[in-house]
Amino acid sequence: MALQPKTPAQIQSMRTGGKLLAEGLALVESKAQPGVSTAALDAYISEFFASKKVKPAFLGYYGFPATICISVNDEVIHGIPKEETILQEGDILDIDSGLILDGMYLDAGYTFGVGKISEEARLLIERTKKSFFKGISVVKAGATVGDYGYEVEKYLSQFDYGIIRDYAGHGIGETLHEDPTIPNYGTPGKGMRFIENMTAAFEPMVTLGTEDVFIDADDDWTVLTDDGSLAAHYEHTVLITKNGVELLTQL
Ligand code: MG
Repeated sequence: MALQPKTPAQIQSMRTGGKLLAEGLALVESKAQPGVSTAALDAYISEFFASKKVKPAFLGYYGFPATICISVNDEVIHGIPKEETILQEGDILDIDSGLILDGMYLDAGYTFGVGKISEEARLLIERTKKSFFKGISVVKAGATVGDYGYEVEKYLSQFDYGIIRDYAGHGIGETLHEDPTIPNYGTPGKGMRFIENMTAAFEPMVTLGTEDVFIDADDDWTVLTDDGSLAAHYEHTVLITKNGVELLTQL
């Protein structure tokens, strides 16, 4: 499908919604302490969205049962908050949520540690975030999806990490997932060209081991690394402009 630019009014709604989403995620991070269940974190952001009169984008999406995905340690993405998942010192967790404001979707997330975490986990989180910024540094109207993926992959290739290939970033706007699909690897000049005033979610997913993942057979959602290695994720919804990008989902 041809890419659609967003209107000025839609972009304004996404700016407002993006800030609220960033605020909700920061609230969750502040509450993520040892002894807290991931279900409790889901309740915090659910209440926050309700208080701001925005709709959760993930709840009910293909039947997803929560407002936020929380993926702990070797869980990469799409983890379901559970009463029985109690955070422990040293865990790393990806929090990833979305909301709808004025019919426009926002999607963002990131990985952080609970208490003191291992040095290799800390570096994984830091470098996953950095790979996002390396990637978007070349994104602007006229650049291609492959230009982005190439930069992410080039930066990460100096480390012995796995780059998840089964999941990717995506356009976003009137729906949660729109064209184009945006892999975290690629070839310069290849793939769809970004256009001015389109919006997209970029989201590298990186592991300390394999790039291979599987879906938990019990909950049918949680994506885990095949080898049990730790995984990190970093995502923002961005507006693509003539000269670069504007991060919409930051405080
Ligand atoms: Mg996303």
